[in-house]
Amino acid sequence: MTVDYPLRGSCLCGRVAYEVADAFKYAMNCHCSQCRRSTGSAFKPLAGTKVSRLAITIGDGELLRYGDEHGYDAHCRSCGSLLYSLVGNGQYVHVAMGTLIDEPSVRPTMHIVVGSKAPWFEITDAMPQFDGFPDHG
Ligand SMILES: [Zn+2]
Ligand SMILES: [Zn+2]
Repeated sequence: MTVDYPLRGSCLCGRVAYEVADAFKYAMNCHCSQCRRSTGSAFKPLAGTKVSRLAITIGDGELLRYGDEHGYDAHCRSCGSLLYSLVGNGQYVHVAMGTLIDEPSVRPTMHIVVGSKAPWFEITDAMPQFDGFPDHG
């Protein structure tokens, strides 16, 4: 597959790699229980863009898609890394920012679904907090 997207990303074991345009519409830290469990973390930093702006360059057949055609979490089936989620009825992807190799221009600007935050985790920055989803979901 020939793509010209500047940002590279990869799973832990390297069997799956992707490229994505540096044109994210937003980035945020999601504290929902799904994001916490799929990453094993207090929250998931995610960056959203149109599905057409993301291309799997290595290992498309290695992806484990947890969900259905309208929305799923895409993991490497070998190492389990969560690479991205398909959202918005298949129109958008939320890239799990921790899998990016290159630095994106965007930065997370808010905390979302703080109503589901892990009680043992304290948000210590000054970014705005939303109990749910501010503009989608
Ligand atoms: Zn992997
Ligand atoms: Zn979430």
